[in-house]
Amino acid sequence: MRAALVDQDGNILAKTSTPTEPAEGFPRATERFIGILRDSVRGVAASDVVAVGVSSAGPIDPETGVYYNPPNLHGWDRKTMRPALERAFDVPVVIGHDARVAAIAEMRWGAARGMKNVIYVTVSTGIGGGIIVDGRPVVGVKGLAGEVGHIVVEPDGPSCNGGCRGCVEVIASGEGMANEARKRIAAGARSLLLKLSEGDPSRINGRMVFEAAAQGDQLALDLIQRGIGALGQVLGGLLNTFSPEILIVGGSVGADGYRPYWADLDAAVRKSALLRYREKAPLAVSHLGDEVSLLGAAAIAFAHVES
Ligand SMILES: [Zn+2]
Repeated sequence: MRAALVDQDGNILAKTSTPTEPAEGFPRATERFIGILRDSVRGVAASDVVAVGVSSAGPIDPETGVYYNPPNLHGWDRKTMRPALERAFDVPVVIGHDARVAAIAEMRWGAARGMKNVIYVTVSTGIGGGIIVDGRPVVGVKGLAGEVGHIVVEPDGPSCNGGCRGCVEVIASGEGMANEARKRIAAGARSLLLKLSEGDPSRINGRMVFEAAAQGDQLALDLIQRGIGALGQVLGGLLNTFSPEILIVGGSVGADGYRPYWADLDAAVRKSALLRYREKAPLAVSHLGDEVSLLGAAAIAFAHVES
């Protein structure tokens, strides 16, 4: 969990963090979250704090802040931090799903400034999406829209913990590639990944796959190319469906230092999209990088206060 004090121009004035430790239970996590929020506004007059914005992994209902079976936050189902945050700070509390909030941050302060049709896709441990159409976020029933990571690209592929099979998340996310690497190594494949994980394949992660690829490891290169192909199909389909002015890709996977990644992804997107995108697709890398969640939380909070 991270907290920051952000001003109206998108400057981060103070920043703190603490591990989420979901296993310690929801009340304890809420308490610790309030703790880092208080740390980030230390020394600031209470009247200068206009709202608290929260960007959270989902599935989460942005109206109520209630979680619905969040896959990585066991024990948080049907719970919300909203009432405790309102009591602690006595200002409006605005909650959003992380990828959607990231799209809003890019519109306010990043690569999508001045635009009204924006798609943000984050490719990290998992894959998520935020879709803005005609200036408004697509929210869906209970705020659950935007799960672009669960678009199926290989019907016979591995199962994901959301209940689908062969969705782009299990193929192209950092965790998806790491899982597949473990499986192929267990089946006898040779790879530099074994050395990078110090002989313990359970330690393989997405970053190591990119590191191995950068050193020419064939297994890692195959997994990345498979991921790029799958992601290209999904992003191309999103362009065809929504006709955005920009499709921003953020998250750690593309940033992990395997240089051909972006050019290959761009080519894969253009190949999967309609003819009008064949020469050029409106694809961009996130301008806000690691800070996109903090800035997004601030962006939805300011938008609420201004409305
Ligand atoms: Zn899935």
